Amino acid sequence: HWSRICERLKVEVGEVEYRTWLRQITVGPVDEDEITLYLPTRFLRDWVRGQYGDRLGTLWNAEVPAIRRVELQVARPDAAPVETVGEDAPTPDIPVAHARPPTLAAAPAPVEEPRQAEVRSDLAAPLDPRFTFDTFVVGKPNEFAYACARRVAERPSSPGFNPLFLYGGVGLGKTHLMHAIGAELLREGRVSVAYMSAEKFMYRFIAAIRSQSTMEFKEQLRSVDVLMIDDLQFLIGKDNTQEEFFHTFNALVDAGRQIVVSADKSPSDLSGLEDRLRTRLGCGMVADIHATTFELRISILEAKATASGVMVPAKVLEFLAHKITSNVRELEGALNRLIAHANLFGRPVTLEATQDVLHDILKAHDRRVTIEEIQRKVAEHWNIRLTDMSSARRARAVARPRQVAMYLAKQLTSRSLPEIGRKFGNRDHTTVMHAVSRVTELMEQDPAFAEDVELLRRMLES
Ligand code: ADP
Ligand code: MG
Repeated sequence: HWSRICERLKVEVGEVEYRTWLRQITVGPVDEDEITLYLPTRFLRDWVRGQYGDRLGTLWNAEVPAIRRVELQVARPDAAPVETVGEDAPTPDIPVAHARPPTLAAAPAPVEEPRQAEVRSDLAAPLDPRFTFDTFVVGKPNEFAYACARRVAERPSSPGFNPLFLYGGVGLGKTHLMHAIGAELLREGRVSVAYMSAEKFMYRFIAAIRSQSTMEFKEQLRSVDVLMIDDLQFLIGKDNTQEEFFHTFNALVDAGRQIVVSADKSPSDLSGLEDRLRTRLGCGMVADIHATTFELRISILEAKATASGVMVPAKVLEFLAHKITSNVRELEGALNRLIAHANLFGRPVTLEATQDVLHDILKAHDRRVTIEEIQRKVAEHWNIRLTDMSSARRARAVARPRQVAMYLAKQLTSRSLPEIGRKFGNRDHTTVMHAVSRVTELMEQDPAFAEDVELLRRMLES
């Protein structure tokens, strides 16, 4: 039974977690409706109970209906050999006291240094030297987060800024800002900084448990002036690590040290984190990084193109900023590829070359938005009839939304101008072209109008 349950667990939790935690379980006696499982240390027992206790119960019950409860115990090393259940012997390859967590084994320096040293040596992950405040392009969507980050770098542990909680979608600059804080503080050289992802935090913690050096791990963490933990959402469902983080957090804040945390959602939306942790996370400064705007994307592209020394025409930058709206990472990736190509072949960057070189990326970013959808949303937004999208009416109240819909159709779909024209009551492609330039113009002149259009775009894109 146990080996079947193990197979299930392996699939459910993944090979890594399985080997790290569950493989250490040995099966003990059954007493009426309760089965005892052993783990080598109290800590492991608590951990397994916290993370997998319920699941183990359910799986055992499914396998052997008479078993209704699972008792987890610490097996003393001198304990008598455990009884077996049914005809299944306990899995032979059990106590893994010598095994290293596989994820750590996969880290760059693979082998035989003592585990304690490993935990002690590089507590924090190195900072990426490219991620500084200087290279961070500031715009509306990120100016608040940027200002908070700068403030923390200048005066860590200021009241009201501790913890600093940065949140936002993927690739919008959270890690960049954290590294920038770190770089700035280290440049001043006055404080000790530890930066690591929440995932790394967990694996460090696990490694510490396994090498029985949790005290050292805690001491190290609690000795830094600034602790930064990236992508905290990773700790959802990892109750024991959360618990540990919570204590570290409290110890540091109480001692007047600075904490910086990032996540993909605000503290209140991080369901799955313990309430008391969420509460504390929201106690300092919470700053969100919004999705990029067209303007910010252009600024970022300009900055990166300039830094590369390759001449990229404004048309190409605009094209990219229109097409790749998901996040900065992808935008940057696309530009980097263009630049690499230009350098490699010594050819100037043109719009045609761009479409060619980035063919696959652009295709992936082609919105699957239909023109019909665009027409519907735009008509709703300005409260006109859908049929007016194709009607001949020229009243401004109708014509303007129609132009916006054409503009958005051009931006968000890969349809050609004639194709778009056909969908708007068989209009000519020059009419569409005119609509696109008119809307572009108006957006420049009228911020409120621009906001409307951007809003529509965002709604259609999501
Ligand atoms: P996140 O951690 O939010 O997922 P990152 O910080 O890793 O995002 O950012 C992804 C990439 O985009 C990085 O290379 C980063 O330098 C770049 N980036 C993001 N925002 C900006 C910005 N405002 N200015 C310059 N580069 C940025
Ligand atoms: Mg990140």
